[in-house]
Amino acid sequence: KHGMPRPSWRRILTVANQKGGVGKTTSTVNLAAALAMHGIRVLVVDLDPQGNASTALGVEHRTGTPSVYEVMLGEIDLREAAAQSSASPNLLCVPATIDLAGAEIELVSMVAREARLAQALTDDALAELDVDYVLIDCPPSLGLLTVNALVAAAEVLIPIQCEYYALEGLGQLLSNIDLVRSHLNTSLHVSTILLTMYDGRTKLADQVTSEVRQHFGPTALRTVIPRSVKVSEAPGYSQTVLAYDPGSRGAMSYVDAAREIAEYGANLRADPGRTNGR
Ligand code: ADP
Ligand code: MG
Repeated sequence: KHGMPRPSWRRILTVANQKGGVGKTTSTVNLAAALAMHGIRVLVVDLDPQGNASTALGVEHRTGTPSVYEVMLGEIDLREAAAQSSASPNLLCVPATIDLAGAEIELVSMVAREARLAQALTDDALAELDVDYVLIDCPPSLGLLTVNALVAAAEVLIPIQCEYYALEGLGQLLSNIDLVRSHLNTSLHVSTILLTMYDGRTKLADQVTSEVRQHFGPTALRTVIPRSVKVSEAPGYSQTVLAYDPGSRGAMSYVDAAREIAEYGANLRADPGRTNGR
């Protein structure tokens, strides 16, 4: 397998879209696995109490497991919660347990409630874990968990499902990103749009695709993820589709998308700097 280029500096991407079922988790785990399979070290932070990313990466997430919840409360260090994924030796995951469901409310009364995750993702911890990429999988809401993810990252990756109402609600997400940028994290920007669940048999899929390209230009990856049964079956086996059926169109498209992301990362010129208060 050909390696993929390492980024100019460590990249932290938040995978966000407040709609459920658009492919956030699927894209997070499969992009992470594709990068890892090609020699790049990746940390996935599961920020959805459902813990679907943890499951897909073969990482324990029962209550009591050291998780992102304790990390955000400041009870444990990121390094204590980062578990090895069975998907690749280059892949780590900070799991989410169901305890995280209460965090949305518990965080409200805490000091620096929007920056708990950012403060935990220290350069020291990430350097020791030796990761080039951090991918944060968000829950389907714009609450405090997603805000924490936006404050902790420099980049946002938005998966958009090639379906009816795909763009509905996107304005709300983009204005939330603008708010976080102006008040909490000046380096935040939407770097990547990924079209998911593309069904070439429908005219609609092409309409959505061209509308998104018109709106976002080159921010939208050339690679589009096809709707594929293999992609939807893989999590049932606690696997990414790259492990479940590496030759499938779904797996290959995630490798192509990851390569685009890696190539962009290797060509980043100016360090946007970290101004999120760490
Ligand atoms: P989100 O994290 O945004 O809620 P998921 O990644 O969990 O979305 O995807 C929602 C559902 O769609 C899951 O059952 C998943 O397996 C399925 N799915 C995701 N991507 C594809 C695809 N390319 N083809 C078929 N099914 C998919
Ligand atoms: Mg999800």
